[in-house]
Amino acid sequence: MPRPLRVAIVGAGPAGIYAADALLKSEAAAAPGVSIDIFERMPAPFGLIRYGVAPDHPRIKGIITALHQVLDKPQVRLFGNVDYPNDISLDELHAFYDAVIFSTGATADRALSIPGVELDGSYGAADFVSWYDGHPDVPRTWPLEAEKVAVLGVGNVALDVARILAKTADELLPTEIPANVHDGLKANKAVEVHVFGRRGPAQAKFSPMELRELDHSPNIEVIVNPEDIDYDEGSITTRRSNKQADMVAKTLENWAIRDIGDRPHKLFLHFFESPSEILGEDGKVVGLRTERTELDGTGNVKGTGQFTT
Ligand SMILES: Cc1cc2nc3c(=O)[nH]c(=O)nc-3n(C[C@H](O)[C@H](O)[C@H](O)COP(=O)(O)OP(=O)(O)OC[C@H]3O[C@@H](n4cnc5c(N)ncnc54)[C@H](O)[C@@H]3O)c2cc1C
Repeated sequence: MPRPLRVAIVGAGPAGIYAADALLKSEAAAAPGVSIDIFERMPAPFGLIRYGVAPDHPRIKGIITALHQVLDKPQVRLFGNVDYPNDISLDELHAFYDAVIFSTGATADRALSIPGVELDGSYGAADFVSWYDGHPDVPRTWPLEAEKVAVLGVGNVALDVARILAKTADELLPTEIPANVHDGLKANKAVEVHVFGRRGPAQAKFSPMELRELDHSPNIEVIVNPEDIDYDEGSITTRRSNKQADMVAKTLENWAIRDIGDRPHKLFLHFFESPSEILGEDGKVVGLRTERTELDGTGNVKGTGQFTT
């Protein structure tokens, strides 16, 4: 009697679960069908949707409902707490399955190679995000003792990190943040968060909606320096061809020309500042040195030799 196609999927993040969904909807699902086993390192599925997406983004986290429906299908089994290759080897997978799909994501940070990155008080976003999302691999407490925090990079993860640092703990109460994270954020001393980008407003990788959302908190004053609004030929081409980049640049322009209000937490978005060194004393972070950059005509930047601490 013909048996179903047996498929193993390693990693129960959205990629693995959508792969299962696609298989169930594919020709392979015709009789005798497919049987899918998903192996996941964590006790719970959904990868970075659970442990990466910020708690105040319930709309994004909502895709868990669709992923859940796939896991509920009778042809799909989920095995949590199974770490490939420590708990199950490729030979074992080959022995029992016709095909193996690896969808283990990209959970670690890319190293930043500037002096001082190893100092106490300098962290990769992946660790901080894991803390506020209650990831079991990271400690349950986080030292939020700094009054001024620098966030390096101008993408959506930088926005998440900056927003969580600048919001009050109580603003996050309606979300699913764990109690230890609420307690930790209550003790957060940060009153200024500075986000740094090497290039300009047209090159920022923010999504327009996530950027505008920064301004919705009654506790966050978003500040952009008018001198940081600059475009070259390359930037203008980018804005013409990329609607999202254009919307981001427009939002930043509007923020640069408005008066600064009196919301208690200041969130500065700096452009054309390339982090060159994290400064330390007694092994601890005490500052950041950046080099001013300028556009070179193509949308890239070059250093000007002008440094700020
Ligand atoms: C901080 C942050 C915020 C984000 N916010 C958004 C957002 O707002 N909107 C948005 O659309 N996207 C967002 N993303 C991106 C989104 O989360 C990812 O694109 C998506 O989760 C990638 O899916 P994936 O299945 O490839 O990987 P993952 O979600 O990383 O899933 C991989 C899975 O594989 C498991 N795994 C890893 N190694 C092994 C192993 N050896 N054995 C078994 N299992 C293993 C992991 O535990 C995990 O469950 C964000 C990402 C981050 C980091």
